[in-house]
Amino acid sequence: MSHCFRLFVFSHLLLLSLWAAEPAPKIPDGLVVLTFDDSVASHATFVAPLLKKHGFGATFYITEGFEFVQDKEHYLTWAQIKQLNADGFEIGNHTRAHKGVNTQKAAEIDADLVHIEKRCTENGIPVPTTFSYPGYATSPVATEVLRARGYRFARAGGARVFDPAVDDPLTLPQAFDSKPASTLEQFKVAIASARDGKIAVITFHGVPDIRHPWVNTDPVKFEAYVAELKRSGCTVIAMRDLARYLPSPKK
Ligand SMILES: [Zn+2]
Repeated sequence: MSHCFRLFVFSHLLLLSLWAAEPAPKIPDGLVVLTFDDSVASHATFVAPLLKKHGFGATFYITEGFEFVQDKEHYLTWAQIKQLNADGFEIGNHTRAHKGVNTQKAAEIDADLVHIEKRCTENGIPVPTTFSYPGYATSPVATEVLRARGYRFARAGGARVFDPAVDDPLTLPQAFDSKPASTLEQFKVAIASARDGKIAVITFHGVPDIRHPWVNTDPVKFEAYVAELKRSGCTVIAMRDLARYLPSPKK
């Protein structure tokens, strides 16, 4: 072995060990995860351009449930989903048919996950590594299926900040669930709870959501939420980006 080659190997081993020893960055105060459920057309036409303008990350949780297949006026097309991915946003899994996982057996949950994973692969989108529970229903069986398929983070329902010290990352809670009656004051309280190692995970549906008015967010109100994130200096990321701060435990 030449001296040069040995030096080359040694320096690379050294770099590798330094890299491996690098600790995860500290969770900053004001760390906010934005999530958007149900494949609503306004995610591509209104939400993404606004977030992009501010350099904010977000996850779009895709399901082919509801009228996704028939109604291409109100639901995203796969071409739009592909573009969201190309624009740097995360595409997450929200299951094939939007069934409550608490009513399903492991094999059915697995098949519904695989369906969206395959559609992603067909469209050149990375296989999702994060999930949101349809209708916020969870089950231990579903959590185990997600774990076995290599999912890192899954958002359930609730109304409190995510505390990685106590919460399972595969049933993590949301701090704010945008509804028609939600207020900017409530939003401010939610994002202010993202401190001391805790993370505010925010749920939206359509902005607007014509087909599901009970989860509608008015676009003007959404602009105020986004302005507040900017004003308060939040770090706004997609769910998958949590892996940077919360590396998986060594196996
Ligand atoms: Zn949903």
